[in-house]
Amino acid sequence: MRTRFPPSPTGFLHLGGLRTALFAWLLAKKTGGTFTLRIEDTDQSREVPGAAENIVRTLSWAGLMPDEGVMLDTKGVLTERGAYGPYHQSKRLDLYRTYADQLVKGGHAYPCFCTAERLDAMRKDQEKRKQAPMYDRTCLELTKEEVKKRLESGEKHVIRMKVPREEEVSYTDEIYGPLTFKGHTIDDQVLMKSDGFPTYHLAHVVDDHLMKMDMVNRGEEWLSSLPKHLILFKALGWKPPRYAHVPLLLNKDRSKLSKRQNDVAAEDYIKKGYLSEALLNFLALLGWNPGTTQELFTLPELIESFSLDRVHKSGAVFDLEKLDWLQGQWMRKIPPNEFASRIKPLVTEKFPAAATDPKFLERAALIQERITFFPEAPDMLSYFYETPTVSVDLIANPKQKITKDDVPKILKIIHEALSAVADVDWSQTTITAALESAIATSGLKKGQILWPLRAALTGREYSPGAYEVAALLGKEETMKRLSAVA
Ligand code: GLU
Repeated sequence: MRTRFPPSPTGFLHLGGLRTALFAWLLAKKTGGTFTLRIEDTDQSREVPGAAENIVRTLSWAGLMPDEGVMLDTKGVLTERGAYGPYHQSKRLDLYRTYADQLVKGGHAYPCFCTAERLDAMRKDQEKRKQAPMYDRTCLELTKEEVKKRLESGEKHVIRMKVPREEEVSYTDEIYGPLTFKGHTIDDQVLMKSDGFPTYHLAHVVDDHLMKMDMVNRGEEWLSSLPKHLILFKALGWKPPRYAHVPLLLNKDRSKLSKRQNDVAAEDYIKKGYLSEALLNFLALLGWNPGTTQELFTLPELIESFSLDRVHKSGAVFDLEKLDWLQGQWMRKIPPNEFASRIKPLVTEKFPAAATDPKFLERAALIQERITFFPEAPDMLSYFYETPTVSVDLIANPKQKITKDDVPKILKIIHEALSAVADVDWSQTTITAALESAIATSGLKKGQILWPLRAALTGREYSPGAYEVAALLGKEETMKRLSAVA
């Protein structure tokens, strides 16, 4: 299957765009097909310099490399490759002009000379009459001679499609199912602008045909324009591709996901430290449901499981908590060595001693179970590299039924139990055994030993388990911190 992702380089890649790209990529990979990236740069006024490159880089970060079209070369420079290029629409203007002329010749399109002022007045009038805004076909009434004369004199004009208003257009969308549109509700869309550039409507029809696309999956916002595109395919004598309109991303209150309520630029999520695995897993589950309870999907697993018939048409609610949960899950899946080497530079920057720490790998493993973002690592490991100041107030804990008065007694019990462990035997197993027997003989509850130990060693309410921290701090340091509580 040949699929495509054709962003307009008008800004950053929106999360919704990244999801559409993911779906197109998955469909191509599932069938051993080709995923094409085309740049739809026909609206010169809205073009943002560097946007195309940024989009390609974001896709490449996500692992959604195009097989054809616009891509990064081995040096990371933007290039294009493939048999159906060029893949920038701005380099295909002659093609659009050719097909626009063909449509005019066949009676499927016509030049329109109406000025912006006239169209504006027409729209206002329609609004007043509570009519749907639609071109009133003034220029369709012009005689052939008049049109010829005005064209020859170089008068500014656009090309509009001539919608067969008496017909109906029916189509079965891969996600929305069977749809019928009445011709008289469809506007005579502008196909070529007066600046010689095509509109999206003509350009993508021409390109998707010439680039031999089998499937067009795109945002739901294009669904209402679908009949125009189907009419164009028919007028050009071409078979349309399959269309799949993907539901919008929604805020929790079901309003359209907007910049105001959430960050929507994929780049912001990259900057925040989300793993591509987490973000893609999250996006895949926005609108698609696997039909099982599986929640974690690698890209190969998505290729295997993804299908359009499990994409639902109601909008997909963007749930940041779910994303963070997935992020945590994917952090745990990183091989421990790799995790340690990824956080090492960050930790070393704050604590130079980490650079030569022989226990770094084990210490890193301890936080891998709890971390959400890499930049949290230095703080989460700080108590291994600097001594915390711990007060009795932190150790006293009503939840654990520990009063301030209990603290010295409990610390003494812990101290005695751990002193009995020989230096050479110091490990999580021996620490656990020593403290469990102290719990049994003292009659204290487990939490009444574990909480004070953990708090004394780390100086914080939340941290990895007491036994693990003690083992990795070493006996000398553990004893020192137990004695230092003031
Ligand atoms: N350039 C269009 C957009 O960015 C592409 C829509 C499509 O997939 O056809 O919305």
